[in-house]
Amino acid sequence: MSSEVKVKTTCPYCGVGCGVEATLADGEIIAVSGDKDHPANFGRLCVKGSALHETSGLQGRLLHPFVEGQQTDWETALETVAEKLSNIRDTYGADAIAFYLSGQLLTEDYYVANKLAKGFIGTGNVDTNSRLCMSSAVAGYKRAFGADAVPCSYEDLEHSDLIVLTGSNAAWTHPVLYRRIVEAKRNNPKLKIVVIDPRRTASCDIADLHLPIAPGADNFVFQGLLAYLVSEEAIDREYIDLYTEGFDQAIVEAASLGVELVAQKAGLTIDALTMFFRWYADTEKTVTFYSQGINQSATGTDKCNAIINCHLATGRIGKVGAGPFSITGQPNAMGGREVGGLANMLAAHMDYNEDNTATVSRFWNTQNISSKPGLKAVDLFDAVAEGKIKAIWIMGTNPAVSMPNADRVKAALEKCDTVIVSDCVALTDTTATANILLPACDWGEKSGTVTNSERRISRQRRILLAPGQARPDWWIMSQVAQKMGFTQAFDYSSSRDIFVEHAALSGFENDGSRLFNIERLSELSEKEYDTLTPIQWPVTQHSPQGTERLFCDNRFYTASGKAQFTLSTPRLPLQLKSSTFPFILNTGRIRDQWHTMTRTARASRLLEHIGQPFVTIHPNTAKANDLVDGDLVRVSTHLGSIDVILMTDTGMAPTALFAPIHWSSQYASNARVDALVQPRTDPVSGQPEFKCTPAAIEKIETAQWAIILSRNPIDCSSFTFWNRTPAASADCHVYEVALAENVNWQQFITDKRLSENGPAQAYEHFCDATHSDERFICYSDHQLELVIYSHSNKQSLPSPTWLQSLVEMSRVGESYWSMLAGDAYLQRAGGRRICSCFKVGRDSIVEAIEGGAESVEHLGQQLLCGTNCGSCIPELSALLTLHKKIEAA
Ligand code: SF4
Repeated sequence: MSSEVKVKTTCPYCGVGCGVEATLADGEIIAVSGDKDHPANFGRLCVKGSALHETSGLQGRLLHPFVEGQQTDWETALETVAEKLSNIRDTYGADAIAFYLSGQLLTEDYYVANKLAKGFIGTGNVDTNSRLCMSSAVAGYKRAFGADAVPCSYEDLEHSDLIVLTGSNAAWTHPVLYRRIVEAKRNNPKLKIVVIDPRRTASCDIADLHLPIAPGADNFVFQGLLAYLVSEEAIDREYIDLYTEGFDQAIVEAASLGVELVAQKAGLTIDALTMFFRWYADTEKTVTFYSQGINQSATGTDKCNAIINCHLATGRIGKVGAGPFSITGQPNAMGGREVGGLANMLAAHMDYNEDNTATVSRFWNTQNISSKPGLKAVDLFDAVAEGKIKAIWIMGTNPAVSMPNADRVKAALEKCDTVIVSDCVALTDTTATANILLPACDWGEKSGTVTNSERRISRQRRILLAPGQARPDWWIMSQVAQKMGFTQAFDYSSSRDIFVEHAALSGFENDGSRLFNIERLSELSEKEYDTLTPIQWPVTQHSPQGTERLFCDNRFYTASGKAQFTLSTPRLPLQLKSSTFPFILNTGRIRDQWHTMTRTARASRLLEHIGQPFVTIHPNTAKANDLVDGDLVRVSTHLGSIDVILMTDTGMAPTALFAPIHWSSQYASNARVDALVQPRTDPVSGQPEFKCTPAAIEKIETAQWAIILSRNPIDCSSFTFWNRTPAASADCHVYEVALAENVNWQQFITDKRLSENGPAQAYEHFCDATHSDERFICYSDHQLELVIYSHSNKQSLPSPTWLQSLVEMSRVGESYWSMLAGDAYLQRAGGRRICSCFKVGRDSIVEAIEGGAESVEHLGQQLLCGTNCGSCIPELSALLTLHKKIEAA
């Protein structure tokens, strides 16, 4: 019997940065659980973290380097990259080269990329997908505190008496933090939760007050709050006088924003708004918890500062249970910021100026350092489109899907001279544009550090052997650097070598002038680095155990040492609706998926909660537009259109649409929502406005729907709509498709049987008298090859989960004919999956409620749902509430 080994590491998805304990046997991860000792999560994991071991297989991996479509060896690939970059720099100058990085990279990878590009090639064009996520939060902190510094710790959520969740659906986007808030509320009956969001989301489940704000009106609310605090004399005059500057100017603008005006601008009732203001004024321990709903805006930085202004005015900063708390989307957005991995930063939290470039040049011992900021993401891809950037190296991200105006970005990459992509996945919308593809290590194969939203640095440990030719990103870049002639500066033999250099740079010529300082970690041995336990920066001689909370001494990193109030004029988004585009399209994440699904879609259970690209709309608006749940619809903006499934949601405002960011061309026919988003950016941070694009919606007529299980990928080009889910139990794919005209499935199968991908030799067939209900089971050598269920009514099709169960049924010898029969057909595996951990469907939950289950706890006792990661608890509560309403009616 093989022995099991447990290794502590960190989840690679969101900015909560949960500690994970992976159990290994025979070189494979057989289970993951939350690390009980990790201060971010104390043993909890959400459903994405719980499924990490299901996503670590070889399915879809990039295993070899490719140059111009030809597989090659590392030596050739590295030589080619080095030669191309050198030639372009010599011919067009360093600014013709760009790096586009990812908040998924480890800090060590980020450090080497930044050093190579800015320090040695000499280009400032190093930006990252973190620009899309939290750059407004960074700019807001820098304007207020003189440093990109999140003052709070997660523990503050437990010590707070008022948590204002604004621009955050934490229940879905940061589930483990949300669970901490739920528990804090349970333990502290005084704790009030206010959710400010245009949508009534799952996070409202615990809200004492939900403010369904008009899109983009946050600045009105927080400036109005400042005015209210002044008028109610609820400010901390002593704190303002001693530790801040700019208060008097800031309130000039805010003073005109009375409650009535703010309520009108924000589309709120005066009573609800006043209640929020009153609670804020009365509650010393207040945390404002904000995320992409604030940041992803053309006025995102002003919104962040409006939030910070209220905390400065009340002195609620650097205190237990209080502070403006930006929660990052990505696992290592903060680590990227630490090394300077944004185009407007140089390194180690140093901005571009003469002194800093001299300091960093001395440390890196280079003469080539870039002397000016580079282009931020939107401008950077514009420069690619205009041919000014001749080579771009993209690492671990998928801008052809995730950038605003994504079609333009994709076209720009397709015509760029040299596109180098390092990724662990072979086929993405972005790798499809690459001239050079470099196989990078995946989560379990990498060693390094990540920093979460509370400044906590944690180790991500290598627990698996890298497959094929996959290598760590830092290794790939160091090899290219050496081939470009920068031999000594990139002579690293491990990620620890890089980390200690990064730590040393943070302290180099620092003298307390820069808050980011982890110099104390610069002497870690290999063993100490390997066993490093989670620690919050700064880590200095004065704070060797790290720093839980910042600004407790009321000293800030501005020229005067005082925090700065920021003056801004609130305005609503410029992108007004019109008769052509009468809706406002909001975009965001869903509970069980991450980014463009390159990893999470490998675990089929993560597609059981929501498996199709969709758009949500209020049911009354749907009715008024002759739309019903499940319709295929086209959502259009002036940039293009996507085809998705309609879902109604009573939490939506009447003229709002919401669509997820996740689906790429690999998983759906036409659902890249960011292709519809205008690239309007915040003038300070450069962060795009993803939340507010005028849009239209219309029904696409369908004649037929089908669900297909296939052992091999199928050609979907003749379908009006399709989406694909990799199946759990075998190397199969499930397709859900819609057709504008009836298809001849027998012909389809004949074609498929003749094709090299379809070796099916025989099939069973069922068809009703009207041909509206047709089913096929195709097989060869006692193995299912292809299954098709087709119906004129989508609701009459079996669920993808049930379809997948046919693979198991065939293994236990169930006859193919019986699979077509009515009994099996009617099984739906409990309805739409709500609890992904224990595979509990909606129908089973409703049945339990009708049978007497009265609470989430009762449901957990009966069905286990909600008893593991807890991500489904808001939906369980919503079903309980719905049932109570139905009963009352
Ligand atoms: Fe990973 Fe979930 Fe924790 Fe985020 S909340 S770090 S996705 S386990």
